[in-house]
Amino acid sequence: MFTPITGRSVIVTGGSKGIGRGIAEVFLNAGAQVLIAGRDQTALDAAAQALARTGGQVSTLQVEVSDPAACHRMAQVAVERHGSIDVLCANAGIFPTVRLTDMTPHDLETVMATNFKGTVYAVQACLAPLEKSGHGRIVVTSSITGPLTGFPGWSHYGASKAAQLGFIRTAAMELARSKITINAILPGNIRTEGLDDLGQDYLDQMAATVPQGRLGEVADLGNAALFFATDEAGYITGQSLVIDGGQVLPESLMALQEI
Ligand code: NAP
Repeated sequence: MFTPITGRSVIVTGGSKGIGRGIAEVFLNAGAQVLIAGRDQTALDAAAQALARTGGQVSTLQVEVSDPAACHRMAQVAVERHGSIDVLCANAGIFPTVRLTDMTPHDLETVMATNFKGTVYAVQACLAPLEKSGHGRIVVTSSITGPLTGFPGWSHYGASKAAQLGFIRTAAMELARSKITINAILPGNIRTEGLDDLGQDYLDQMAATVPQGRLGEVADLGNAALFFATDEAGYITGQSLVIDGGQVLPESLMALQEI
């Protein structure tokens, strides 16, 4: 049995859609106060309205994570609204595709600015309140793509997701004496609104590549993030948890067909 996290202050960047929204829902169901951040206010409002059905305390803030000043404002607003910050879920990310031969410096910069630098800026902005809480938790959403696997068109994306893991290992050491842990969740193929738009045939094909025979649900990620946020996970830091239904395990197509 884990100690309840009722009343804890949680920020979820990229909380208006997909995995971030799922993480927010899990934390709200656990009784936390959650601030969801993203660029599009309309999407934030729609998510907040849906999340309010949990009965939990949810609010929104427009934030561009690649802007360090905006991240600092996010931390300030969370402290104003909740009195503290106990958990930061640095989840905001983009995944445009472009082959290496066509990739422009702008393509590379945009992906690194959002996925990697945006993670660092959000973490830096929340450090003082996280330390003050005495049990600060940071959960970074990385990916299997980059750290463990590749996919044509995603060399820049994969690099940004691997960079997050390089970052957390040293950050974990620097933050250890402040009693802040920092860990990463690595999703496989997760069913989000964006994926649903690609149609049932596409979803079925993707599910067939997963040993468990299904795509991940956003709650699968939320539950993993919640675990890292518990008091009981306080001795785990600098680590990565793959949440993929076994997707990275088959060593060949033949291995998958043998299941
Ligand atoms: P999504 O549904 O597109 O949601 C992305 C979220 O991030 C949205 O709330 C978006 O809101 C926000 N966002 C994007 N750029 C931002 C920026 N510059 N500043 C602030 N917020 C920003 O994506 P998702 O699939 O849930 O992905 C979430 C995370 O999981 C990403 O880090 C992604 O790399 C990772 N991931 C996803 C999967 C998967 O299968 N879905 C697999 C592996 C890893 P706005 O657009 O309004 O800003």
